[in-house]
Amino acid sequence: MPTKTTATASRLAPFGETIFAEISALAVRHEAVNLGQGFPNFDGPEFLKEAVAAAMAAGENQYAPMPGIPPLRAAIADWVEASSGRRVDPDREVTVTSGCTEAIPATLLGLIEPGDEVVVFEPYYDSYRACLSMAGAVPRFVTLRAPDFAFDESELRRAFSDRTRAIIVNTPHNPTGKVFRRDELELIAELCLAHDAITITDEVYERLVFDGEHLSMATLDGMADRTVTLSSLGKTFSMTGWKIGWAVAPPPLTTGVRSAHQFLTYATATPLQHGAVAALRAPRSYFDEFVADYRERRDVLVRGLEEIGFGVRPPAGTYFVLADHTRFGFDTDVTFCRHLIEHVGVAAIPPSAFYHDPADGAHLVRFAFCKDVATLEEALSRMQSKLRS
Ligand code: GLN
Repeated sequence: MPTKTTATASRLAPFGETIFAEISALAVRHEAVNLGQGFPNFDGPEFLKEAVAAAMAAGENQYAPMPGIPPLRAAIADWVEASSGRRVDPDREVTVTSGCTEAIPATLLGLIEPGDEVVVFEPYYDSYRACLSMAGAVPRFVTLRAPDFAFDESELRRAFSDRTRAIIVNTPHNPTGKVFRRDELELIAELCLAHDAITITDEVYERLVFDGEHLSMATLDGMADRTVTLSSLGKTFSMTGWKIGWAVAPPPLTTGVRSAHQFLTYATATPLQHGAVAALRAPRSYFDEFVADYRERRDVLVRGLEEIGFGVRPPAGTYFVLADHTRFGFDTDVTFCRHLIEHVGVAAIPPSAFYHDPADGAHLVRFAFCKDVATLEEALSRMQSKLRS
């Protein structure tokens, strides 16, 4: 029986340890090839490290301004304009956060009242649900269903009501690799306008698109005034440990985001913000090479998984593949992933952690392909020789 000195707050107790920490620790213990947590096993470009080192040497080591250093907010505004054609005000509409993972609670705590309903697509990035709980919000789930991870229009319509304060959209989508289509985003926009709700959109994989096109929710008619756009540096520049993210929103929504951000972290690491300026101003050639390299990694992993017997469709975006492991005869994703780590030597994420009903994810497994090709091939060869269908 937990006591006052041992009990985790009941709001958070149901979430236990995040699956990313659990699988990362097991991967180390079993010396598994780690295709679990989504971090690259290669470094981002040298010019970013040089920019951070120069900032440190120049004495940029004290607190940054609470909303972020002005040159980074200016670079983020230019980045948004270059990718979506939308001009935002760096002073009143851009806030730098400690990764998108901080921008999520800053947005929810700053804008959602306890008891408000928030529509969430599942599978979801696990921190959405835990942060909704911290904010006292009531989640309404809409399931993206295999094989193409479409949602049912009437299910989405039913999830909205006058109690709906927001919907969380993540495109390109972790873990399915789905890139939301224009008609899907238009339906979401229509429902937000009809119910006076806002969209919180997590676009951290915005540059990792292989098929189709990334569309930013805030560019849809009527949505600029009711959208908080979250993104970050980590995926696009292979520096997930830098934890530089941002929230872009119209001034009234930015006021809410900042009101929470200032008391969560106050400000984000100063020298790394200077590195982020260099990143966002990288030449076009960097991005072309970045996507081409990831396309190759995606194709290597998808082809290899198919040959081994997984049910798999190439993801349109992100650096994840959500595959079906039914052929191998395991009851659940958790038993499959345990076997994979302990007996095959490959770590992957059991996706039931991303569903409110774990049964919906029981036949699936998530592999990350933000790894060099040799590492992907080693993982595939271990599975080829040790998994039996
Ligand atoms: N976004 C990363 C993933 O999905 C994990 C981030 C984290 O560990 N919280 O793998």
